[in-house]
Amino acid sequence: MNAEIMAVGTELLLGDIVNTNAQYLAKELALLGFGIYRQTTVGDNEVRLEIALKEALKEADIVITTGGLGPTPDDITKEISAKVFSQELVLHEPSYKVIETYFRNNARAMENGNQKQAMFPASAIVLDNPNGTAPGCIIVGPENKFIINLPGPPREMKPMFENKVKPFLLQFMEHTIISKTLRCIGLGEWDMATRVKDLIDSSENPTVAPYAKDGESILRITARAKTEEEARMMIAPVEEEIRRRIGEYIYGIDEDTLEDVIGRELVSHNKSIAIAESVTGGMIASRLLSFEGGMSKVLKEAFVTYSDESKMKYLGVKEETLRSFGAVSEETAKEMAQGLHEATGSEVCLVTTGIAGPTGGSEEKPVGLVYIGIYLDGSVHVWKRYFTGGRERIRIRTTIAALDYLRR
Ligand code: ATP
Ligand code: MG
Repeated sequence: MNAEIMAVGTELLLGDIVNTNAQYLAKELALLGFGIYRQTTVGDNEVRLEIALKEALKEADIVITTGGLGPTPDDITKEISAKVFSQELVLHEPSYKVIETYFRNNARAMENGNQKQAMFPASAIVLDNPNGTAPGCIIVGPENKFIINLPGPPREMKPMFENKVKPFLLQFMEHTIISKTLRCIGLGEWDMATRVKDLIDSSENPTVAPYAKDGESILRITARAKTEEEARMMIAPVEEEIRRRIGEYIYGIDEDTLEDVIGRELVSHNKSIAIAESVTGGMIASRLLSFEGGMSKVLKEAFVTYSDESKMKYLGVKEETLRSFGAVSEETAKEMAQGLHEATGSEVCLVTTGIAGPTGGSEEKPVGLVYIGIYLDGSVHVWKRYFTGGRERIRIRTTIAALDYLRR
């Protein structure tokens, strides 16, 4: 099977926006084993779009368009696609209802053009769009050819491709595609990519692709093969080599989350834990509690000890320590962890203290300075870290770092 990618939009032709949709689709389609002989970019012009589609269908089994599904009169992709297959547009009731509800919920008046967004050829498979108002569609033409219309905005197009088009295309594939995701903490995306650069650069099948998400660095290994077993066997040696290089930073695979990994560890060893948070204000407890496998058995209690007074009152931090070293200091973190253990008797005690900003920093103790303390087996270990970014980001990164220390 071969496919042509067609980006529709005058702003692409003029260079006002970069055609990232084509890049994304080309990679995805190649991975699925499609031949790509041509990519086109066409303006919002009825005549030229019709010519381009007809031309594309001479060669390609599938033409995937992006853009031009909006409500305005210059959004014409679906109309021309139907015309090329000599099909009429009819109202698709379910889509109409969704669009109507969207406007009602947002207290906006529905315009004529929005009704147009619910019109499809009778033969089309409609692809609903949870991220926008324009549904996409797969139009079935003669001779087993298809035109697939996707919306222009990447944040609408990508999930539609991933969740709806890919499963549709898989029926044409003679092989299977398997991915394995390795999740790293404590190693920046750039750092990670550098250490496995040769594997990424030379990778074809399996491919190795890095990306970053929510403070994690992620590597995805994807293999294409006749059977799932064969694909997994191709992934294994690549994974082994990656683990040899950066294994200490890999905390989980696929859908694992940090809280899952830690939660499983605590519950299976029946280790009790208590938390006292200053700068993270409950974020760590909240994340740990989202683990579904029996956190109530091990998480004894969690405090937010934000003020100096509360650190003294509940954790027994000495006034003298706070006066001499300040609340954000190794000494305070140490006393917090020790005090938390004495107050709760928990085997593992995790504490945080830091300056999230935007005010309150100084030259000696800048915004972003945090201390993370862990009591374990009779002694306390304190880590000093600097994080950049705004207040929320500093708090989130502290949370991730604390969970990562806990994991180790
Ligand atoms: P809308 O309902 O938003 O009008 P649409 O399906 O009609 O969606 P367009 O109007 O063609 O899509 O494009 C909307 C926006 O999507 C563009 O302004 C641009 O930001 C983005 N976009 C469109 N095509 C591409 C592309 N090929 N690559 C990257 N971004 C694109
Ligand atoms: Mg538009």
